[in-house]
Order: sequence, then C-alpha cells, then structure tokens
Amino acid sequence: MCGIVGYIGKEQAAPILLSGLEKLEYRGYDSAGIAVLGDNKINMVKTKGRLKVLFEKIHGGTDIKGSIGIGHTRWATHGAPSDINSHPHMSNGGKIAVVHNGIIENYLKLKASLEEKGYKFVSDTDTEVISHLIDYYYNGNMIDAIIKTIHRIEGSYALGIISSEHPGELFAVRKASPLIVGVGNGENFIASDIPAIISRTRDVYFLEDNEIVWFKGDTIKILDADKNEVKKDIFHVDWDVSAAEKGGYEHFMIKEIMEQPKAIEDTVCPRIKNGEIVLDDIKITKEHIEKLKRIYIIGCGSAYHVGVVGKYVIEKLTRIPVEVDLASEFRYRDPLVGKDDLVIVISQSGETADTLAALREAKKRGARVLSVVNVVGSSIARDSDDVLYTWAGPEISVATTKAYSTQMQALYLIAIHLGINNGHITEEQKNDLLAEMQTIPSKVSKILTNVSSLQSYASKKYSSKDVFFLGRGLDYCVALEGSLKLKEISYIHSEAYAAGELKHGTISLIEDGTLVIALATQKDLFEKILSNIKEVKARGATVFAIALEGNTEIEKEADFVVYLPKIESIFTPALTVIPLQIFSYYMAVNKGCDVDKPRNLAKSVTVE
Ligand code: GLU
Repeated sequence: MCGIVGYIGKEQAAPILLSGLEKLEYRGYDSAGIAVLGDNKINMVKTKGRLKVLFEKIHGGTDIKGSIGIGHTRWATHGAPSDINSHPHMSNGGKIAVVHNGIIENYLKLKASLEEKGYKFVSDTDTEVISHLIDYYYNGNMIDAIIKTIHRIEGSYALGIISSEHPGELFAVRKASPLIVGVGNGENFIASDIPAIISRTRDVYFLEDNEIVWFKGDTIKILDADKNEVKKDIFHVDWDVSAAEKGGYEHFMIKEIMEQPKAIEDTVCPRIKNGEIVLDDIKITKEHIEKLKRIYIIGCGSAYHVGVVGKYVIEKLTRIPVEVDLASEFRYRDPLVGKDDLVIVISQSGETADTLAALREAKKRGARVLSVVNVVGSSIARDSDDVLYTWAGPEISVATTKAYSTQMQALYLIAIHLGINNGHITEEQKNDLLAEMQTIPSKVSKILTNVSSLQSYASKKYSSKDVFFLGRGLDYCVALEGSLKLKEISYIHSEAYAAGELKHGTISLIEDGTLVIALATQKDLFEKILSNIKEVKARGATVFAIALEGNTEIEKEADFVVYLPKIESIFTPALTVIPLQIFSYYMAVNKGCDVDKPRNLAKSVTVE
C-alpha cells in the first residue's frame, strides 16, 4: 500500500512532490523516490528508508529542476526495501518513469516475455514490468501504449507516468488502488489520498477503474479504456486536514477495521487460481509435508491468538498434531523441536524480538520455518525458509485488526495446502473449502454495515469493570482475541474462557450485571454454549451473544445478539472477530481513550 503523487504546473515540482509524500507516509515508509521532467530528460532520485532520507539527499528538492514530476513512498510487496526496488521504475533507456501502488499478479509471466524481447530488469518488483511494457507498446502515442499495457496487466494499480518524449505531459490510470486528481489554479495533481494535495487545492475528481488521465499544460482529459472522453463533476473537499489523513475516519483503528474486506481479498485472491491454491513463495515439498511429525505455531499477543485458531484448523484439515506457543516461552523452554517438524511463526512487523529469537531457536534445532509476516524484507522474513506475506498494508493503530484477520487467512491457506499435500483433503473438499473461503470478504463487508447497533450497545456498557468472553472450540480461540482487544484499548479488565471451564472456578466472579460476551457460532457446540449462557444468566450476568443467522433460539437467553452471515464452522473466526473489534473500539471511544496509541504499548515490539 504505497503513496503516490504527481504534479504538473509552473512551479518547481520536487519540493511540492516531497511535501505531498510527507502526507502519504502513513501508507508506506520503507523507501521513497521522485522523478522529474527537466531539460527533456527524466531526473530520478530514490532511496531506501523514510522520506526524510530522500529529503536530505536532494536538499528538500532544490537539487532537482523541472515542473512536472511523480513521487512515491513505498510499502514493499514484491522485492525487499532497497534503493533499486524503490519507485519510480524506469524503462530501459530511461524514457518512461512509473510510480505504482498495488500488485501486478501476472508479473512473472510478463517479465519472462519481456526478457525474451530483450528487456533487462534491474529490480525484484512487480512494478518494473509496467515501465517496460509501456516502452514496448509506445510508438509515439502514450495513451495507446498505456491502454495496451493495462490490457496485459492483472491485479491492482494506481499509476503515475511521465515520458521524456512528452515533456509537457503527465499520465495516470488506476484499477482497484486509490487515485484522485487534484484540480488547481494553473497546476494539477494526482495523489493516492486527499491530504497530499489539500494544501494546494480542495477540488478533486475521483476516478473509476481503468480511467486514464491525460494532463497536458494546464488541461486535464479523462478517458475510458476505449479512449472516449469521460465528463466528471468536481468534488469540493471541506474536511479538515487531519481527518482526511485518516480517510475521514476518527481513528486509524476504525479505518483499518473497515479495510479488512480488501486486505483479506488481497491476501487470499492472488493465491487461489483456477480452483487451486498457488503459494509461489512456499518451497516446502510434498515429500517433506508427508513426513511432518508435528507443527508448532509461534507468536505473541494477537499473532499467538491466530496461532490458536491455526491449531484447530490445521489439526482438523491435516491430522498433524499442532502445538501453539508463546514466543517468549518457546525460546527458553528447551523445546522438543527437530527436523521432522514445521515451525510457523507469525508477526505483523516481522521484527518482534521474542518471535525472531524463537525462530532462530527452532532453526538451530533443525526445524523448517515458515513465517507469516506483513512487512516485506523484515528480519523474520529474511531468516525463514519460506514466507507467506499478508497483504494487509501498513497498520498504524497499535491494536491490530487487519493484520490479525489476514494472518488468519494465511493460516487457512497453509492448512489447506498442507492437507492437500498430505492427502487428508479430497478434491471435492478442497473445492468446497476454497469456494467457501472466497466468500469471506463479502461476508465481512456485510458485518461492517452493522456498526451502529454495536456502537449504541457500547455506549450503554462502557462503564463495565469486568467483562468475560466465553466460547467453545473455534469460538474460544476468537474469545481470546476479543478479550485482548477490549482490554488493550479500553483498559477494562476482561478474560476469555473456554465456556466449559467456567464452572471450574471463574463462575464465582459473575454477579448482577456482569457483562458476558458469548460466542455461539459452532454448529456442533451450539446447545452446549446455550447451557453455559443459561448458567451465567442464572447468576445475574448480562449476555451479549454472537451467533449465525437463523439461530434465533439464542434470543431467549441473550440480552443483545449480533448475527453473522452463515459460513462453514471452520471459517467462523474470520467473521466472529469483526463485531468484537467494533465493540471494543466503541467501548474505548466512549471512555475517551487514546484508541490508536493505548498507554504503555508500542506497535512493533523489538525488545524482549
Ligand atoms: N508492488 C509494488 C512494490 O512492491 C507496489 C507496492 C504497493 O503499492 O503496496 O513495489
């Protein structure tokens, strides 16, 4: 999820591009670069590191002359953060420069075919195919070359493009990645998000998929993929700047909650092709999988909770025993791990100190390590034998939501992949599982339309002192995460219990009005959890239940119910967690907490 900007006007472009990028750094921050048209050639500077490194390198932009340019702040998906992988990317010969936000899914095929035609690739990115393809199709007309290129590339893209053959022009196009056009006075812009341009103009055009923008001098033409001109209304932005940085949301956390359907889709869809799981990055062989004696899943905090879901799912689909470990325990407990074991480590940042140490311990003892990581090129990714990246984009809020959800999807993919390879999943089961899995993004979207009832319930419950989360089976795994979410951001004490365990002690804590959140989505365990709800009701608890649509029987017992779209039991955790995140968020907002930066916590825990 990178940030892109473009400028065409009469002033020097470089400082304007840098100040636009500064407002987009929340979208990516592992490297940055700009390319400016000056003296009929493209001047490009790019570098690994935060924008500040680029800023210093080009003295705030004063070193680069020219009044048309493009800029990029990167959040790597393909190729580790490095100077060479930073954007812009140039065609051979340096005539065309491109900045890109998104993922080109068929880049390997395109790269092979361009290499056959003699194109030399210098980076590991998917983006570089775009600059070469435009160059390949260019025969004097940039719009034609861009249209031919977008017919060849699959995936998501927002592109800013300049060409030394067109010194007074700027081009842009998008599909499934955000891009707006800023309409100024004698100057115009492109940007991934409004904050990048709001200091210069508040008039914008929003673009539809595959609309191409052609800036020439101070004119703007928007064309569809058949070159018909598209007329659009200008939208006048009247938000204040700081709200716009969060896309209009009050906090990054709620913005990231809302981004989950897209994050899940980006993580899963490119890995299911023609009804098969395609995990290009995972090299573990079928023979190795068949011989696996045991799997360990290791993480901290929410990543550990994903591991608990993973245990239930992997054991069910592969019949291989799975142990879940807290990284800080695993590393010091002289674990019985060896060469016939697979160790799956989970970390959003890829820098979690305990998880990294656990990974190294596992490797020392001969195990193969597969990591599930959100940040490309991070230490954990580099030290693992295989990496399955979650494509959640940068997560700013300290309390994880979309990283948790995409990690869970990664574990579903791994579980199905292992199950197919060790012969425990039949062809028919595989088809059913993959079809069902692909319904998750739209079901999550549906749940996200029900924010207001959770918001109003939270406004009644935010003064609770203790909250108990109950669930059985996979519901218990999600209860762990629901409880952590609530306590970390709202500072309300909460605990998660396997519902059958309650009567072995904890039920003595239930008194009049204690809030109990009961998860009741597991078909085979529905009657059991219903009995547990009755037990706590009999002791005065107020019950908020989450159940699947149609299970209205629960209304007889619970005081407040949220229904989830129906889905196979194994996939319910992907849905159940969503109302819990929303509820925690509004509990914290009602209490006036600093939701995005809860006290005493940090995002990437790089200390032991
Ligand atoms: N796929 C491109 C890269 O890795 C762009 C990344 C993005 O937009 O997230 O450089």
